[in-house]
Amino acid sequence: MRSIDDLDVSGQRVLVRADLNVPMSSGEISDDGRIRASVPTLTALADRGARVVVMAHLGRPKGKIVPELSLAPVATRLSELLQRPVEFSPALTGPDVQAAVSALDDGGILLLENVRFDPRETSKDRERRQRLAADLASLADAYVSDGFGVVHREQASVTDVAQLLPNAAGRLVESESRVFNRLISDPDRPYAVVLGGAKVSDKLGVIGNLLSRVDRILVGGGMCFTFLAAAGHPVGDSLLEADQVETVRQVLADAADRGVEVVLPVDIVVAREFSPDAEKATVAADAIEAGWMGMDIGPQTIELFAEKLADARTVVWNGPMGVFEMPAFAAGTQAIAEALADTSSFTVIGGGDSAAAIRAFGIADDRYSHVSTGGGASLEFLEGKQLPGLAVLEDH
Ligand code: ADP
Ligand code: MG
Repeated sequence: MRSIDDLDVSGQRVLVRADLNVPMSSGEISDDGRIRASVPTLTALADRGARVVVMAHLGRPKGKIVPELSLAPVATRLSELLQRPVEFSPALTGPDVQAAVSALDDGGILLLENVRFDPRETSKDRERRQRLAADLASLADAYVSDGFGVVHREQASVTDVAQLLPNAAGRLVESESRVFNRLISDPDRPYAVVLGGAKVSDKLGVIGNLLSRVDRILVGGGMCFTFLAAAGHPVGDSLLEADQVETVRQVLADAADRGVEVVLPVDIVVAREFSPDAEKATVAADAIEAGWMGMDIGPQTIELFAEKLADARTVVWNGPMGVFEMPAFAAGTQAIAEALADTSSFTVIGGGDSAAAIRAFGIADDRYSHVSTGGGASLEFLEGKQLPGLAVLEDH
């Protein structure tokens, strides 16, 4: 992988794929961590006189123009963080964007509108993607991959365009790759992974592959109910992916064979409904009744998890332990965040919501070894998979 230092960028047009997919609530950016993470590469390129054209996506517009998913507010915040002007192009392709790029001075920065507004970006049809990639490549002389959160995707702005221009990895992709390479090649043991969050089926797939790499898996968050169900316990009205129960049973059997410890919650904070001021109670994890839904791990589970993490020398955490957005159900996530902030082990936080949770609790990023910007990408890296957005940088 080449770095941006290997590219001669002065006076050149450089197309950068960044990950600016920040959480928004009512038009406001609620956590700008990913925008901040894009600053080092953009600053380095602009300082060296590149004419920087930034591509990124926001949310899942599914190939249509969705005004609420415009990157315009991100351009404003990016400009504040970079402390330099950032132009915004509502067009992705065509004469208007060509003109906007031509108007850039050395060191100038232009952010293009949400690349997923174009249906070709995420098309499964390679030729369609390549047509968008050709349009995008025509805007630049070189390509820089800096969107770590999307390097596991085969998409026009990630893989196809990288093949059409001289390419390099940006600072973020370099530093993330360094951390995850260390985790798969040479982790200090015991090595524990803490998994939570809502995207149950997304993460179930990776667990099977993690079994051959880690010593201990702690499961909380919405996904723990599929595990509790697989262990034969009732889960009431909690989040459950019934079609995954069998897979999880297999995972539990595999784990037992391999001597990997799977630690499940022993108590759960349950609520009558999914709302911040719902009636709540703490119950044993094997006795959640109908009419109640699991919202957070309970106090005994917090203690158990903290104990299981205390002697770990490597810890990867992906996914909140509960519905941390509601203060009544944030205790589990906060306790784990604090326990990890205070260890001397190698601690890596992955997942957009997990990183946002840490910042919401006011815990500084630098109290962990690494806070990743990539959720899915970091998990696939941990599985030992080859990530297409990185592979394309190696062989070009
Ligand atoms: P990450 O972005 O860190 O990978 P996910 O996107 O998988 O995490 O999941 C984050 C979401 O999971 C949060 O919005 C949180 O409210 C939700 N969540 C956590 N625990 C539960 C639960 N018990 N029931 C429902 N949702 C949950
Ligand atoms: Mg998420």
